[in-house]
Amino acid sequence: MTKSVGIIGAGASGLLSSILCAKAGLKVEIYEQNTKPAKKILASGNGRCNISNANLSVEDYFSEDPNFVQYALESFGFKEFEKFTQKLGLLLTTLEDGRAYPLSNEAKSVAKIFEEYARNHGVIFHNEKKITDIKMFKEKYDAVIVATGSRAASHLGGNSDGEEFALAYGHNIIPAYPSLVQLELSSKIAHKMSGTKIYTEVTLLINAQKEQIQRGDLLFSTYGVSGFAILDLSQMASSALLNSQTVEISINLLPNFTTQKLAQYIAKMAQQIPTFTILNILVGILPGKIVSGVLESLEISPLIKGSDIHTKLTKKIANQMCNWRFKISDTHGFRHAEVSGGGIDTTEIDEKTMMSKKVQNLYFTGEVLDVVGKRGGYNFAWAWASGFLAAQSIKRELL
Ligand SMILES: Cc1cc2nc3c(=O)[nH]c(=O)nc-3n(C[C@H](O)[C@H](O)[C@H](O)COP(=O)(O)OP(=O)(O)OC[C@H]3O[C@@H](n4cnc5c(N)ncnc54)[C@H](O)[C@@H]3O)c2cc1C
Repeated sequence: MTKSVGIIGAGASGLLSSILCAKAGLKVEIYEQNTKPAKKILASGNGRCNISNANLSVEDYFSEDPNFVQYALESFGFKEFEKFTQKLGLLLTTLEDGRAYPLSNEAKSVAKIFEEYARNHGVIFHNEKKITDIKMFKEKYDAVIVATGSRAASHLGGNSDGEEFALAYGHNIIPAYPSLVQLELSSKIAHKMSGTKIYTEVTLLINAQKEQIQRGDLLFSTYGVSGFAILDLSQMASSALLNSQTVEISINLLPNFTTQKLAQYIAKMAQQIPTFTILNILVGILPGKIVSGVLESLEISPLIKGSDIHTKLTKKIANQMCNWRFKISDTHGFRHAEVSGGGIDTTEIDEKTMMSKKVQNLYFTGEVLDVVGKRGGYNFAWAWASGFLAAQSIKRELL
């Protein structure tokens, strides 16, 4: 009799495993709680799907068990994945920094091709079917893959079901935290700058120690800050908040100036146009709302004339503009996060097969595990690589 595989979750990881198992002649059924598969693929990369990265390495991932990803990345890295997608007729294009996208530039084509290819090879889809009892489900199949993803983005299917399934078999869970997520600030001045976007250098401080520096766009919003510079710091910030550490950011609003150079510039302009107010001088180099915020935070009147600006004042303003500190009160939460850190403890999962070390023929793949990648295609790369290893192991076990 044909051996059977039950997969929970028709996201990136589950879809890839389903194809490999079905192609090998196994009977595959995939269960998805949403009305259709691959909702996160469809929403990814702003509709373009940053599908992988040509420069994958262990350093691009965070986990309590940092080397866990190594075997998977070596077995099914970017080259192997690209070869696989070529067989499906899904061609990729790679940017100079390594980020890979579908040549079509559309996430839709990724979701469509994976689903159609799986169907063509006989995978049976059960949409709008949420699995709740893992033990009953496990009884029905010769092998089971839990590919339920993480808690991130609940509107796209994010939940903690996979963790619950693992707990049912006595697995340990590393506490989950939102990652690639916006950060909240309690500063009222920051909220007033909402809607302004600038290129910055942001330093992350944990318990007053500098931990990470990131350059990129930063957007002030009604709750705090977002933008690539913030998303890239958010993994470390979120993990520190979970551990009740003090988290701050120091923003350099003008990364191409030093504090000294900026102070000199302000002094020069004040001398050159003494009738200009400090507000007029600064709006020549930064958005008005931000200038108002800087001055308000220092309790300096925006109406002070150039002729009244003395050295101490220019230094004070320049220092604030290059090192403006804000306390992070929280992350913007799982709902807004792209991914989640934490998850099923990988020390209890075989790194070469993704099989549970506690239960024969039960596999966990993708983001449900305690593995989270940086921004840049690393999270899909992990979903594909771990899904590949599970499928290879199932073929060896069942055929
Ligand atoms: C907005 C957004 C943009 C992103 N952009 C990128 C990007 O460009 N590049 C990148 O690398 N990563 C990106 N990510 C992250 C990436 O989408 C995930 O890391 C990846 O989808 C994880 O794959 P997975 O298969 O583990 O889980 P998922 O893709 O989340 O799939 C899990 C599936 O399981 C289903 N499910 C859950 N519980 C049950 C249940 N009990 N019964 C049945 N079905 C269930 C869910 O509905 C879901 O469809 C993005 C994420 C978001 C939210």
